[in-house]
Amino acid sequence: MSSQTNTNPLALPITLALSKGRIFDETLPLLAAAGIEVSENPETSRKLIIGTSNPMVRLIIVRASDVPTYVEYGAADLGIAGKDVLIEHASDHPGGLYQPIDLNIARCKLCVAVRKGFDYSSAVKQGARLRVATKYVNAAREHFAAKGVYVDLIKLYGSMELAPLVGLADAIVDLVSTGNTLKANDLVAVEDIVEISSRLIVNRASLKTRHAELQPLLDAFEQASRSHAAS
Ligand code: AMP
Repeated sequence: MSSQTNTNPLALPITLALSKGRIFDETLPLLAAAGIEVSENPETSRKLIIGTSNPMVRLIIVRASDVPTYVEYGAADLGIAGKDVLIEHASDHPGGLYQPIDLNIARCKLCVAVRKGFDYSSAVKQGARLRVATKYVNAAREHFAAKGVYVDLIKLYGSMELAPLVGLADAIVDLVSTGNTLKANDLVAVEDIVEISSRLIVNRASLKTRHAELQPLLDAFEQASRSHAAS
């Protein structure tokens, strides 16, 4: 992107918000394909603002669920967030973010899971209220409303798998990747709600005011994600 990079020394670098862990790890090859090397590993450095080999591009490391907020308010021009996080954010902030590219990384499914032996189909047929524990309350509410199932949603922030084991809930709505976590806790997935992958999101104002700087980066992400999907 050098020919179109803003060389004004006072200009702020393009800021990309993302979370540590799987999304960060799977984003590195996409950045490398765009010719961008990251200068530090956030797992070891504890720094929250990380430079790159391109002085006009920096990363900020935030909680996964905060990525849409940083981008929506323009503290970051770009972000990478799972569709799970974007569904929850969009329920409270509709239309706030431009989502141009499915990066095809950090893929998994949002599922309903219950204890092995729990008769889920009878429970939802009987018209009784189902107690569902989840971090994804908006996605869960929409899913069960579409099925016409009455639910009491219990908001949790982690370790959802525990809830059916200790009587907090009949079912959970959680992300499933390999299925190992469910299996280790004697749970089974009984319904898929939606396929999840991470998306590039863009601040709407940046898209207009920094279009020339952003476009080569968007093109590089698009191309890298297409070859990632094909591999
Ligand atoms: P697994 O045992 O591979 O099915 O992974 C399930 C656990 O990892 C659950 O606790 C999920 O919340 C979490 N998880 C799986 N995939 C993702 C993802 N793409 N992003 C964030 N968390 C995930």
